[in-house]
Amino acid sequence: MKGSILVHGGAGRYRSSPEKIQELLNRSVEAGLAAFERGALESAVVAVEVMESSGLLNAGKGGSRQADGTIRMDASAATGQLFGSVIAMPGCWPASRCAARLLATPYPIRAGESVVRWARQEGFTQWEPDADAYAHWEKKSAPSPGTVGAVVVVDGVPAVVTSTGGRERAAEGRVGDTALPGCGSSAGKSGAVSWTGIGEAILRMRMADWTRGQLKDCSPQEAAERAVEKLESDELNEGEGGVIIISSEGEMGWAFNTEAMAVAWGKK
Ligand code: ASP
Repeated sequence: MKGSILVHGGAGRYRSSPEKIQELLNRSVEAGLAAFERGALESAVVAVEVMESSGLLNAGKGGSRQADGTIRMDASAATGQLFGSVIAMPGCWPASRCAARLLATPYPIRAGESVVRWARQEGFTQWEPDADAYAHWEKKSAPSPGTVGAVVVVDGVPAVVTSTGGRERAAEGRVGDTALPGCGSSAGKSGAVSWTGIGEAILRMRMADWTRGQLKDCSPQEAAERAVEKLESDELNEGEGGVIIISSEGEMGWAFNTEAMAVAWGKK
C-alpha cells in the first residue's frame, strides 16, 4: 500500500497552544497511515476521528455552539463519484464516520434530528461535549476555528473527509460549506481537497471543486495558492480560510490567509 496523507486543524486562530495542536495532528497522521490497508477513505476517517475526539478543535467533542446553545455538526466524506454528508446533526457525534457510512447508501446526504435517529440505529455513540469548549462559549469570547479535514491517496485512489461544528454563535440551523458537495470537500480521479474558513464565502464559490479543477494545469501547491486568491475575491468580503489538496500521484499543497492553519502529513 503506497500513498500520502495530509490533515488540517482549521484556518483561523487557535485557543490551545500550537505545540498541543501540532502533536494532535501528528497523531492523526500516524493513525491515518496505520489504516492505509483499509483504503484511502477509511484512512481519512480514522485521521479525522482522532481530531474530532480530542475536544481541542471545532469538530466532534469540541464543536462550536450555535446561537441557541446547541452544537450542530456538519461533515462530509468523498471518494471517486461518491459523496456523503451529515448536515446540522445535533450533539457531539463522530460525524466524519457517519458521513462515510452514508456515502454508499440510497440517501447519502441527511440532515437534522433524522440523522441522530439513524446514527443511534447504526450503533454510533454520542460524545459528551468538551467542558473547556463550553466554558469558552459561555465567556462569549471570539469565534474559534478548528474545523478538521484529511485528504488521502492510497494506491492512486484519493479520498477526503471534513468535519466541523460550524461558526460559533451562528444562527440556529445555519449550514456552512463543510457538508455541501463541491464546497468544503471534493474528490475525484485527479485528487482530493478539504476547505476550512468562513463557510458562506467558500460555498458561494464551490471552492473545493474549483480548487481540484486547477490540477488540470498546475501543481497542488499552486492550486492551493490560486484558490486562496480566488476566495479573497468574495463579493461580501468574507473570503477568509485555508485549503489542503492532494493529487492522485500523492503530491500535496496547502495555503491559507488567516493567522494560522495547522497541518501535518505523512507518506508510505
Ligand atoms: N468552514 C466551516 C464552516 O463555515 C468553519 C471553519 O472551517 O472554521 O462551517
